[in-house]
Order: sequence, then C-alpha cells, then structure tokens
Amino acid sequence: MRTPFIAGNWKMFKTGLEAVTFAEEFKELYKDADVKTAICAPFVYLSLLKKLFAGTNVKVGAQNAFYEDEGAFTGEVSVKMLEDVGVDYCVIGHSERRQYFGETNEAINKKLKRLLAGSITPILCVGENLEQREQEEQYMVVRDQLVGAFAGIAAKDAARIVIAYEPVWAIGTGKTATPEEAEDMCEFIRNAVEALYGEKTADKVVIQYGGSVKPANATEIMNMSNIDGALVGGASLKAKDFMEIIDF
Ligand code: PEP
Repeated sequence: MRTPFIAGNWKMFKTGLEAVTFAEEFKELYKDADVKTAICAPFVYLSLLKKLFAGTNVKVGAQNAFYEDEGAFTGEVSVKMLEDVGVDYCVIGHSERRQYFGETNEAINKKLKRLLAGSITPILCVGENLEQREQEEQYMVVRDQLVGAFAGIAAKDAARIVIAYEPVWAIGTGKTATPEEAEDMCEFIRNAVEALYGEKTADKVVIQYGGSVKPANATEIMNMSNIDGALVGGASLKAKDFMEIIDF
C-alpha cells in the first residue's frame, strides 16, 4: 500500500517572518491524517522550518542539492549540509531548474545517487513542455528523463524515489492537466519503472502529479489509481489552501 504524499513547493517565495506566520497557521489547521506532508522551502529557511514543525508530522524538504559533499562550488549546498540540518526530502530536476539553470539528466542522476547514499528522500520531477506535448513527444521525453535519472540506481534505492509528473505547461499557469491526462502519464511512468525494475518496485514507487493543483481539483486528481500524491506550488503558500488539499 502506498501512503499518499502531498508536498508543497514554495519556490522562491516568503520571508522568514512569512514562513513563521505560515507555520503557525498551518499547525493550527493541521490534523494528522493518513497522508504524508512536507514543505519544500528555500535553503535559508530549512533550519527554521525544522524547528517550527518539530513535534509534528510535517516534514521539511529542500528544492535542490549538489552532489559533491564539499569543495570549491560557490553558491551550492550539499546533500551532507541538508542532512546536517535534518532535511527529510529534496526536490530534484524541477522543470524550472532544467529550464533556467541548465540542469541535465546527468546532473540529476548524480544528485539522486548522492541523496540515496544518505537519509533524504528525493522527489524527482519529470514532465514535458507545451511544444513537446503538441508534437506528441510527451511519452518519449518523460521516458528519456526517467532512464537518464535512474541510470545505475539499484532497485532497492529506486523504490525510495518519489516521482512527480509535472507537465511544464500546467505549472503556475492555472491550466491543470485533466485527471485523465495526469493518470495516463502517471500510469506510463509506473510502467516505465516496471520495465526498468520489475513489478514489485513499480508498485512501491510513489508518483505525484504537479501542475496547478488547488483545493478545487485535488480530490479528482487524488482519486486516480496511479496518482499517489501531489506536488503543489502556488497553493502551498497559503496554509488554508494547502490544508484543504491535504484533506482532499
Ligand atoms: C510546482 O512548483 O512544482 C508546481 C506544480 O507549481 P503550481 O502548483 O503553482 O503549478
């Protein structure tokens, strides 16, 4: 049985004070449910959020990490550093990182391997852009992203990776994929994992949908059989909206 997992991605939003206000509001609303929950926040607020959510089941995630443990890599933050502050999850290969920061499947693969060598659960993002969908290349694109990301990763480690299907055309645009479109690709992803690792691993892998998930569409999306959760951008910035999604 896969436990639903709903994660918020704050992207580059909020000040420290706003993070405190969110945590206070969210803790008031949050009731333990059979849903795993995490907030993926900018690096500078991770320690703060770990303290604010201490004693609750709300986990904390980073939005990126570098694969070397230390060295002359100005501006980077290592997995080792994230482990040091108790981070639980780390988003890897978000489309904004692929698009604006030139993140390649090769770098994503190295980051995944480093995370899997430690305690942090990776959330691997895959998804096609609008042009690729219009050219009907979405399956090829997602398969290539998966094959690149999982290269050289053993089945027992692969089962720990959360995969977020995030069609780029649905991120921050208000245009959600229909529940059927989202389910179709999540099923394709599960089949691709099965082709790489077998049925047991594919059954274990948690697959999220991401792209304009809101309180109004969360139930329909979460009811799909291959969708085990959501990666939520905009709607995770408001405690009430995020809680309503978790309560789907
Ligand atoms: C995201 O940031 O991963 C995301 C899905 O954003 P939004 O929910 O705002 O579309």
